[in-house]
Amino acid sequence: MSAPRAHATACVLSVGDELVLGQALDTNSMWISDRLLVLGVRPVEHATVPDDLGAQSDTLRAMARRCDLVIATGGLGPTKDDLTRHALAQAMGDVLVEDDESLTFLEGLERERERALTPERRAQALRPARSRALPNGFGTAPGLHGVIDGADVFCLPGPPREMRPMFEAHVTPAIRASPGSAVSTRVLRTYGLAEADAGALLSDLMERATDDSMVGTTASGGIVSVRLRATGADAVRTLDDLDALVRERLGSAVFGGEHETLATLAVLLLKERGERVGVAESCTGGLLGAAITAVPGSSAVYDGGYLTYADGAKTSVLGVDASLIERHGAVSEPVARAMARGVLASPIGARTDHALAVTGVAGPDGGTDEKPVGTVFIGYARRGGATEVRHFRIAGDRDDVRARSVTAALGMLTFALRGVEAPAKLLWEIRR
Ligand code: ATP
Ligand code: MG
Repeated sequence: MSAPRAHATACVLSVGDELVLGQALDTNSMWISDRLLVLGVRPVEHATVPDDLGAQSDTLRAMARRCDLVIATGGLGPTKDDLTRHALAQAMGDVLVEDDESLTFLEGLERERERALTPERRAQALRPARSRALPNGFGTAPGLHGVIDGADVFCLPGPPREMRPMFEAHVTPAIRASPGSAVSTRVLRTYGLAEADAGALLSDLMERATDDSMVGTTASGGIVSVRLRATGADAVRTLDDLDALVRERLGSAVFGGEHETLATLAVLLLKERGERVGVAESCTGGLLGAAITAVPGSSAVYDGGYLTYADGAKTSVLGVDASLIERHGAVSEPVARAMARGVLASPIGARTDHALAVTGVAGPDGGTDEKPVGTVFIGYARRGGATEVRHFRIAGDRDDVRARSVTAALGMLTFALRGVEAPAKLLWEIRR
């Protein structure tokens, strides 16, 4: 018998009517592909098929011809629409037999629950004769491992909380990747530049992508993430080199790694300095305070905030001069400035070193020619220091404008705390 072949490439199959019909999101293939890359196997195809015997077995066969490793999830359970056992048997040209160990396991489960093992539940002990059953320590349905055309085929349960530990228990140890093919990745988070501008600054690095190394960008809610990937024995050194180049090109816009957010960074930097922040919010209605307090340990640095939505609240609570609002409007540079100063002068501001204030038009109504929907002014005041106000024009619907205003406010705070120069014009900022 020839030696089993190495796993260079993999295909991922997701099974379920609900996935094909758009009623549930296929997160399994994303998670599995990410794990495979790290383990040194390159995913080359994803497919999603309904609970259909023919579609499942045809796709398993086609995938087994195309790659060395096939991971399928879903359709292993006890209901009539769970057809993966039959589909694997059909694709292998094999018959179904009852697996003794699986049967003992299923009988034990039912005894514990003081239930009889119904024929439907008992069917979960079936496996193609030439396959082996994979014990499921995290649920009911055993998985399956078979070989089609020399490709290893693993069938795992659909629920992610069963699939993930099953993958680690049965697939990870079985992987035979060629040495040095494991992929290392790193993510740098940036704020302040638009994705197109960050991309332009990195264009030569992004063009130089090979199978072994890569620089790419993705953007979400104003945070542009730069993804680095490297393969082989020198992967870490390559990542370090790419990391340094990206930081050199994007400068102060890079604020952290994969798990950093502007809020976690703000809390960290405030803690390091032993300083505190307070906020005044209008159009964000508490989202800014929520973002800060979502960070564990924020109580050491966050004093609280004012939700001054109405003009009268801005005046009575923060001491914003009513004539300022009359002359310039509540959404204006002078009002954002007065709100931020107002926090420092307020009762909760007694110990506050930094203040943020947000006032804007979140829409869909309330926009004017001069101040269209998305117009947001953000003030940042520092005790004993100057007050800075920036004027933004934020695209998107009401939710987007509110969420992105929080990003912009935390962006201004973190640039100030880091003591670095912000890009000349921040993302969404307009010059007056
Ligand atoms: P069970 O024993 O729970 O029936 P199963 O292997 O038969 O497991 P399915 O019935 O296909 O799996 O799916 C069960 C649940 O698992 C689905 O309702 C869905 O919530 C989740 N699920 C299935 N496939 C995926 C997937 N690709 N990504 C994310 N969740 C999934
Ligand atoms: Mg099911």
